[in-house]
Amino acid sequence: MVEKKVVIIGGGVAGAVLAKTLQDQANVTLIDPKEYFEIPWASLRAMVEPSFAERTVINHREYFKKGDLIISSATNISESEVFTSDGRKISYDYLVIATGHTELIPKTRTERIDQYKGENTKIKSARSVLIIGGGPTGVELAAEIAVDFPDKKVTIVHKGSRLLEYIGTKASRKTLKWLKSKKVDVKLGQSVDLDSFTNENRTYQTSLGESIEADTHFVCIGKPLGSSWLGETLLKNYLDGDGRIKVDEYLRVKGKNNVFAIGDITNVQELKQGVFAQGHAKLVAKNLKLLIEGGGKAPKLGTYKAQAPMSIVSLGRRHGVAQFPFMTVVGRFPGIIKSGDLFVGKTRKDLGLEPNVKKS
Ligand SMILES: Cc1cc2nc3c(=O)[nH]c(=O)nc-3n(C[C@H](O)[C@H](O)[C@H](O)COP(=O)(O)OP(=O)(O)OC[C@H]3O[C@@H](n4cnc5c(N)ncnc54)[C@H](O)[C@@H]3O)c2cc1C
Repeated sequence: MVEKKVVIIGGGVAGAVLAKTLQDQANVTLIDPKEYFEIPWASLRAMVEPSFAERTVINHREYFKKGDLIISSATNISESEVFTSDGRKISYDYLVIATGHTELIPKTRTERIDQYKGENTKIKSARSVLIIGGGPTGVELAAEIAVDFPDKKVTIVHKGSRLLEYIGTKASRKTLKWLKSKKVDVKLGQSVDLDSFTNENRTYQTSLGESIEADTHFVCIGKPLGSSWLGETLLKNYLDGDGRIKVDEYLRVKGKNNVFAIGDITNVQELKQGVFAQGHAKLVAKNLKLLIEGGGKAPKLGTYKAQAPMSIVSLGRRHGVAQFPFMTVVGRFPGIIKSGDLFVGKTRKDLGLEPNVKKS
């Protein structure tokens, strides 16, 4: 029997799980602009402890051994083919779009780990650090630096009226209190003019006219959604106002029988979390298996139910703030769940890998 061709665009949290799960059942092609999958929520720890990245930056080939791997970006699609920026044309029977968010990061694992070493040097050699953005990335980075380098002055400037606006106000308040207890200065409702900094004055001006002295800065504002390339494709009318792909209960692009979308790129009404993106991937793996084995007959596909709000933001190595459906907790309890290993061992195991790597 000729194997069905499944093309997965995007090798992030959702795409990696799908590629790993489906590689024995179909002829799978994974398209991603970089040679590796990276555990996104571990990246801030890798900035204060670069050796952490040895476990969190994983070559795609480590978990995806059987299918075709194309290191490039998808630029267009037709009813049966995907086109890439390096001029390739890949045909598909089933297509899965998993392009979550985009980020300008290096192509190879070695370059990515070196980048973390560079960021670590930048942190270590500064006496004061300015963090721009008070979402999960800015908060987690501020907490990592405050805990590992308590003598450094850390300031967060955030445009919004509260930290962590994607979850509840209680979580914002508790996080602010925790950061203040670690002497992190938090300035809300203002933005930073990066052009105002010079090596001589070492000062940044904010939109409210404040001056912040800092030796270096990190920009931690949200990454753009990975759907702009779809704007000129046959899926352009399948995007909602935020640029997310409209999917049905089977996570199929609404109105398209052989095209699915998973992860942050979908318009599923739930918090955008990796654990949910992994759930999408597992469901679509099952649905694709049913379709492939059904051989043309319409099988009964599994349906996806949007998940209740749940998120844990780590606050250094021992603490965290957790938004559960009916409760918000700050301190050791969420820290025990997330902040020690940041789910790295678990994520590696889900990809069929050893939780630890041998020291090179
Ligand atoms: C600081 C922080 C902490 C977090 N903590 C947690 C947590 O504790 N638990 C949790 O569950 N979630 C957490 N999240 C959220 C989680 O990281 C995301 O929900 C998850 O990464 C979404 O997965 P995804 O596969 O949809 O997208 P992504 O992981 O963003 O992957 C998208 C992939 O698509 C690729 N791509 C983009 N465009 C193209 C293209 N045109 N062609 C080919 N490839 C393309 C990208 O290179 C990338 O590899 C956290 C996020 C942040 C920022």
